[in-house]
Amino acid sequence: MSIEILPARLANQIAAGEVVERPASVVKELVENSLDAGATRIQIDIERGGHKLIRIRDNGSGIDKDELTLALSRHATSKLKSLDDLENICSLGFRGEALASISSVSRLTLSSKTKQQEAAWQAFAQGRDMAVQIKPTAHPDGTTIEVKDLFFNTPARRKFLRTEKTEFTHIDELIKRIALSRFDVSITLTHNDKVVRQYRAKIEPAQAIARVAQVAGKAFAEQGVYIESGDTGLQLHGWVLPVGSSNTTQYTYVNNRMMRDKLISHAIRQAFEEVAGQEELPGFVIYIDIDPRQVDVNVHPAKHEVRFHQGRLVHDFILQAIKQVVVPLQDGFAGINQHVDSQ
Ligand code: ADP
Ligand code: MG
Repeated sequence: MSIEILPARLANQIAAGEVVERPASVVKELVENSLDAGATRIQIDIERGGHKLIRIRDNGSGIDKDELTLALSRHATSKLKSLDDLENICSLGFRGEALASISSVSRLTLSSKTKQQEAAWQAFAQGRDMAVQIKPTAHPDGTTIEVKDLFFNTPARRKFLRTEKTEFTHIDELIKRIALSRFDVSITLTHNDKVVRQYRAKIEPAQAIARVAQVAGKAFAEQGVYIESGDTGLQLHGWVLPVGSSNTTQYTYVNNRMMRDKLISHAIRQAFEEVAGQEELPGFVIYIDIDPRQVDVNVHPAKHEVRFHQGRLVHDFILQAIKQVVVPLQDGFAGINQHVDSQ
């Protein structure tokens, strides 16, 4: 057997296996790009659960005409230049793989205009080498990415797509998590031309509660106990429901990135066990802010997990902080606006 370099599309399709599992993973990558581009308004249009169309429009920085080709190429990113940057990541993306991967398993077009440019341009990647075609288009400042016919050329992947309804539920759930990561960004989600969610930008902290209620329900917003703990370098804030209340909203964020991290979940679970003697968790929305140098995000291609350099310390910090707000349901009406001093 002779050794050959894979054609670009095939190499990208292999990489896509790691990050593009289903329509919701496409939405995640694209919305994160919009947030990294400084967008304050993001519109997400879905058709048929994302099988047919996923379209993300933003009012972010846009991409220069000369960089459209690069944006669609693998290992091309504007967010990272050196190893030092990799150890100090403040953006959601940095791998430079999402657009190349997604466009290798769909029909993707990228339309964009920067403020400095007079006109807008549209790009798409063609053929086995993914040569990029560019043509003029009409577009306001910002970027629109359209992903049509996801997995049309990878039948093995397409087989794993669930019903439209199931795939849309995954997208809706993802957007809820994102909505609680950035209260300052307005987000609209439509499905088959109907507006399904509209999260308006909230600037004032008090207004954040309205969005929490929208995402997690009114009961969560009324019963959640506010918690704030720590100092610069390692901080935690958020809301925890009283023990015994049933709510499935269990969101955690590290530096505004949503997480499903074992260490964090373990610390929260242990707090409830130690105080209330039970493992069943009520709902919570917890934000951890940590010096980016103290955490490695480059552990998992989809970045669901992180590695804390001082895992034990972070674990115990979370444990102690949460223990302060574990309260039984009946006297748990501290209310969401009441700041519980955890010291
Ligand atoms: P990464 O996010 O890891 O850098 P991507 O493949 O997701 O890699 O995107 C490649 C590059 O394209 C980004 O680094 C960014 O410069 C540009 N880009 C992608 N989406 C947008 C967007 N919505 N607005 C502005 N620039 C974008
Ligand atoms: Mg990205």
